[in-house]
Amino acid sequence: MGELLQALRQLIELDRQAGIQFLIRPALPAAPAAAAAPPSPAAAPAPPPEPVGSERAARPALPPRSGLAAADLAAIAAAVAACRACRLCEQRTHPVPGEGSPAAELVFVGEGPGADEDASGRPFVGAAGQLLDRMIQAMGLRRDEVYICNAVKCRPPGNRAPLDDELAACRPFLEAQLAIIRPRVICLLGATPLKSLLGLQGVGKARGQRWDWQGIPVIATYHPAYLLRNPAAKKPAWEDLKAVLALLGRSPPPRAG
Ligand code: SF4
Repeated sequence: MGELLQALRQLIELDRQAGIQFLIRPALPAAPAAAAAPPSPAAAPAPPPEPVGSERAARPALPPRSGLAAADLAAIAAAVAACRACRLCEQRTHPVPGEGSPAAELVFVGEGPGADEDASGRPFVGAAGQLLDRMIQAMGLRRDEVYICNAVKCRPPGNRAPLDDELAACRPFLEAQLAIIRPRVICLLGATPLKSLLGLQGVGKARGQRWDWQGIPVIATYHPAYLLRNPAAKKPAWEDLKAVLALLGRSPPPRAG
């Protein structure tokens, strides 16, 4: 895995050297997200016309940001597929690197693949995934405009929680994904990603506060599988999702009826 990650780092570094500054977005200031929102395209002054025949005009256009991030994310997916850095590779049917928009403003991080995810190679497609879809919908977002991944990319046998050494082995993939996407907010689903990314214990204690990873605001909430078993926790979880929306400068959509 070391060689693959090294290759991935070189790929990201090449992007940077090519002037792809937008792979690393500036960190959000502590001020309310609405005030920090970039000016709308309509308000921004039009760029001056490019002088005909100038050196700059002759340069080929850079590929769109999402295309570059998608290529970097695809490189991670390939590295995950080849990875044998921990024992979880032994029983996997499919690795589950993650999916969603490479330009996502919001990334959800869960625990690890379950049986449905292991069978399909996609994150959050079982019953918990259907609940996550409804949570995303309730926020006024679409699944394809966020990014969804897990703390470990291969299924722990019997759906047990990943062990500390498995989390440590897989953390470089998670951190690389977050560094490439550089979302405006990270939402951790359950205790496992909270432990892996922030080294914190217990969602009950961590939720209701804003944390930080590499300058990106982090909100912790309950895993959808926990919410299926404990419907009473859906109310505080919704409060957490509203905190995520506030950081994105959004309001929840009005409820039908
Ligand atoms: S869980 Fe992560 S570190 Fe372990 S084998 Fe799978 S991809 Fe590699």
